[in-house]
Amino acid sequence: MILESFPVGPLRCNCTILGDEVTHEALVVDPGDNIPEILSRLQKHGLTLRQIVITHAHIDHVGGAALLRKATGAPVFLNQKDLGLLGMMEMQAGWLGVPTPEVAPPDASADDGLSIGLATLPAEVLHTPGHTPGSICLHFPAQHLLLAGDTLFAGSIGRTDLPGGDGRQILRSLRERLVVLPDATRVLPGHGPETTIGEEKQSNPFLQPGFRM
Ligand SMILES: [Zn+2]
Repeated sequence: MILESFPVGPLRCNCTILGDEVTHEALVVDPGDNIPEILSRLQKHGLTLRQIVITHAHIDHVGGAALLRKATGAPVFLNQKDLGLLGMMEMQAGWLGVPTPEVAPPDASADDGLSIGLATLPAEVLHTPGHTPGSICLHFPAQHLLLAGDTLFAGSIGRTDLPGGDGRQILRSLRERLVVLPDATRVLPGHGPETTIGEEKQSNPFLQPGFRM
């Protein structure tokens, strides 16, 4: 497996490239910005992009999706419950004081339970609302790997004070969908350093039993 995860854009969203060195197919998760860099990383490995997966419709995660689709023809997956946020791109750009990126409707909804990824690198969509209504995590069971978007960070969780955020909902998503994964699961969050489910269960204050919001 080829795995590159690197920060893009002013908010340093972690964009992740997952590729198969035999079939030379790849998926890209959260191409928020820096599309030329993403394309050159794909090219460096000789990878053909098959899927673009967006963990949620915040500008720092989805901002480059339309451009990357235009450059590669790969379809974009975004949970339909985040279409409202996708339609608020001008307002989101205003929050950050950056130009409004080109946006386009996704090609398919990343619904809970959807089998996605590559034939040799299958993943399952976990719908984990709370940070946004349509937030998802991508679980690669065979690789013991979770791309967590802004639902879970090392030592913290995603903010729930933006439009569509819901504190109780994110705690429910964390408890019912993420804490139940094997402790050894490697977690690549949407921002900041990687961690594991076991490490977060032990030390993340938001995951301790009895924590309320
Ligand atoms: Zn976000």
